Amino acid sequence: MANKKNTPKRKAVSADEQAQNREWRQMFHAAGLRLTKQRLAIYRELETNKNHPDVDTIFRAVRPAIPKISLFTVYRTMNMMEEAGLAWRITTWKSHARYGTSKERQIAHFLCEKCGRIDNVELDGLTTLRRSAENTLGTLSGMDLIFRGTGKCCAPRARSRN
Ligand SMILES: [Zn+2]
Repeated sequence: MANKKNTPKRKAVSADEQAQNREWRQMFHAAGLRLTKQRLAIYRELETNKNHPDVDTIFRAVRPAIPKISLFTVYRTMNMMEEAGLAWRITTWKSHARYGTSKERQIAHFLCEKCGRIDNVELDGLTTLRRSAENTLGTLSGMDLIFRGTGKCCAPRARSRN
């Protein structure tokens, strides 16, 4: 009678994942792009990897699931997503490109120039800064604020403030 209840789940994607995929499909569609299997895998990696991966990192992360994907495809896809406003790029030293989803676009970032770590930054005053810029300049579509330097991750030792 209650047999169905204990049927183990097949490999099918979970309801959460389905809802997520539907949301992304709509988002891609609104941006004028089809959400192919490759693009889905790439976008998911972008969402999951909070350290703003570069193309090579994305390539290595999606390859197990999509063995036929090429590094060039990932490059092309990232350019396409960026042009469509779904992803954005932080250019670090030597023009090295790192990516995040466009949801993160209005957040400020800190780039540790020693180890390449990129953190989202939340600071008091960002909203004020944005408003002030908007009053002075016009309507903003986004804000890119990148702090650079040696992060606490790479500080030789904690310095006493005394
Ligand atoms: Zn560091």
